[in-house]
Amino acid sequence: MKYPTPKLVVSACLAGEFVRYDGGTVKDPFVEKLLRYCQVIPVCPEVSIGLGVPRNKVILYWKEKELRLVQPSSGKDLTEDMLSFVESFLSGLEEVDGFLLKGKSPSCGVSNSTLSYKDPEGRTFSHRTKGLFAKKVIERFEDLPVEDEKRLKDEKIKKHFLVRLFSIARLREFISRAESISQLMEFHRINKYLLMLHSQTKLKEMGRLVASSKGFTQTIKEYSRLFRQALKKTPSKGQYINTFTHIYGHLSRRLNQKEKDHFFTLLEDFRKGLVSEKTILELLKNWSFRFEEDYLQTQTIFEPCPKELN
Ligand code: SF4
Repeated sequence: MKYPTPKLVVSACLAGEFVRYDGGTVKDPFVEKLLRYCQVIPVCPEVSIGLGVPRNKVILYWKEKELRLVQPSSGKDLTEDMLSFVESFLSGLEEVDGFLLKGKSPSCGVSNSTLSYKDPEGRTFSHRTKGLFAKKVIERFEDLPVEDEKRLKDEKIKKHFLVRLFSIARLREFISRAESISQLMEFHRINKYLLMLHSQTKLKEMGRLVASSKGFTQTIKEYSRLFRQALKKTPSKGQYINTFTHIYGHLSRRLNQKEKDHFFTLLEDFRKGLVSEKTILELLKNWSFRFEEDYLQTQTIFEPCPKELN
């Protein structure tokens, strides 16, 4: 399987640069491995607005209902500098496939992991929120995967992030060389079960779009939007079972009764949490080789991203 190379915007401290407030960097074995498969676009918002390394800490505080970025030691309010950097950085960004940012940072924190305060000195804790840079990224790139390294410790979140990142990169690389609707139909075909797994409604919508007689440019544009949206939600167990059953439908007439029984036992085990989805996917993939089902063998659902990252 040939994998695309995702274009990933990464907090510079996660990408090995010594830019943290204390002059350090962040070591994370999984992130280091992932970055070897990506085209990395590093960014350190705090260094980019002129803060040095090392530097005194910055914090977030609520001025009435407005979130401000300040440096308590100097009393500087850095909010406008940060917002204007974010605007120019994000507007000048080439097409990218996702963001991996540093958790808990007042600039980069993604998932309500950053402390915020009721006063500019940081004496009274208010609640956890997103970093200022991360907040703008999420608002602007709502259809792209945006995560922090801490959340990727959760296997489910990591898997979903990787599937989205590599699938969106595959789409971008495909679009850069696509010339005809028939090529788009082929792209849609190999992603059919991956899309079904995430959103059957979007899969149908995309099928109708590909079969419509809209112009090539318009179709690609709409397809691309729907593709990103389709992958947004983490699939439920029910969605896995539905997709497995559809794939099984291609193969069932060539299976003997014991094999059929085995499949449904595994499906029940999966429903109960006794086996993972990988076990069932592997079985279906093996059968697709055995019965020389080209239509199934090329499906991206079987290997959406490099095995080494799983
Ligand atoms: S968390 Fe963000 S702002 Fe802080 S050092 Fe890392 S890249 Fe720079």
